[in-house]
Amino acid sequence: MPAARTRTEYDIIIAGGGMVGTSLGLALSPLNLKIAVVEAVARGAARQPSFDDRSTALSRSSQRMFEAIGLWPDIVAASTPIKHIHVSDKGRFGFAHIDAEEQQVDALGYVVINRVLGGVLQNALSSVTNVDVICPARIAAVTASESHATVTIEENSASRQLACRLLVAADGANSAVRDMVGISATRTDYQQCAVIGNLLPEKAHENRAFERFTEDGPVAMLPISDERVAFVWIQSPSTASELMDLDDEEFTARIQAAFGQRLGRFSKTGKRAAYPLALSKANDLVARRSVVVGNAAHGLHPVAAQGFNLGLRDVAALCDCIADARKQDVVDCGHAVILENYAEWRLPDQKKLVRFTDGIVRLFGDSRMPVRVLRNIGMLGFDLIPGVRRLFARHTMGLAGRLPRLSRGVPLE
Ligand SMILES: Cc1cc2nc3c(=O)[nH]c(=O)nc-3n(C[C@H](O)[C@H](O)[C@H](O)COP(=O)(O)OP(=O)(O)OC[C@H]3O[C@@H](n4cnc5c(N)ncnc54)[C@H](O)[C@@H]3O)c2cc1C
Repeated sequence: MPAARTRTEYDIIIAGGGMVGTSLGLALSPLNLKIAVVEAVARGAARQPSFDDRSTALSRSSQRMFEAIGLWPDIVAASTPIKHIHVSDKGRFGFAHIDAEEQQVDALGYVVINRVLGGVLQNALSSVTNVDVICPARIAAVTASESHATVTIEENSASRQLACRLLVAADGANSAVRDMVGISATRTDYQQCAVIGNLLPEKAHENRAFERFTEDGPVAMLPISDERVAFVWIQSPSTASELMDLDDEEFTARIQAAFGQRLGRFSKTGKRAAYPLALSKANDLVARRSVVVGNAAHGLHPVAAQGFNLGLRDVAALCDCIADARKQDVVDCGHAVILENYAEWRLPDQKKLVRFTDGIVRLFGDSRMPVRVLRNIGMLGFDLIPGVRRLFARHTMGLAGRLPRLSRGVPLE
């Protein structure tokens, strides 16, 4: 590869133009900073790892953020509202439900297919004049000094350097940029895979989402358009690979047996994909001239559908820290004060969500009888006590704790 060419200066470089990096570019754009989003995989490529065939349940705080940046009308038009959530344990008496009406909201969340959300976000970003999207290009090296970070990118078989005040690592759970800036991470393999896809149930979904815990792992059904439902089925790696090899008819019979008849008979199962699952946590959120957000900071198990929602709260908090500093004449976006404020703010929310999600995985993965009995009593208690339900719902809707402006629906400027 030829030697790196001349440097281009930016206020902020975002490493990774996936779900979180693209959202960050859009959220920061009103601040009139010079920004670059560097994304390794070409737009629309089948192997794009972020904007793929998964479906994402957007929480209320994510909805508010997209409202504040003016994108909600496009997203809601492509989404399906969740009005009820039903949680059950196969073959046991306990179950729990959360209801939008009881929570006095229009919907508990909205389900959107990642590829569709990607189209909306990428279209919007391409029309923002102060954000350069550099794609496909991979960040290959980073150095940081007191005053700036220098990023080497590989693009079209050549390399060049970009300089910035702040480098944001939004390059996913296996973040190489996080390593490049000297932040270590821990990773715990759950020894589980998520098998995803969608199918057509006989009965109308009526905007209900289901989470059903079974001996072999939880299966979730989310309402999507055309009366279909998107499933996420957690299994051991060996069973997941067996499920991936089945033909559609055999697979449909297996998922029907696991989920039961609540939605009637399943048919017309779509394309499946499998994702190995791990918990990953960055050991720091900031380093000199850099910060980690989204899955680069915390890769969660999808059981509680919180990963992207949590990543968007990182985005909203970082925007607040930068906007507030500018109001106090701190124009350097990578100033140590901004980084300290960001880390102090985000750590408690991230730790809480990591504990919560990991706790659910372990609680429902434990088949010992005393744990199962406690779990069922817990679910019954949860269902009978509206106050507990309300508190839980506020957490899953992303409305608990100190919320940044964008997560409250308030524009930055
Ligand atoms: C089965 C499943 C279901 C889920 N469901 C939900 C849900 O319902 N709700 C929810 O909130 N979350 C959900 N999640 C989690 C959610 O998908 C992730 O939290 C989200 O994708 C994280 O986005 P990200 O942008 O941080 O990382 P990623 O999606 O991993 O994107 C990283 C991007 O960085 C790019 N990149 C990587 N390296 C480089 C480099 N060196 N240079 C430049 N670019 C680079 C990649 O190409 C990619 O585009 C689910 C996850 C799974 C596995």
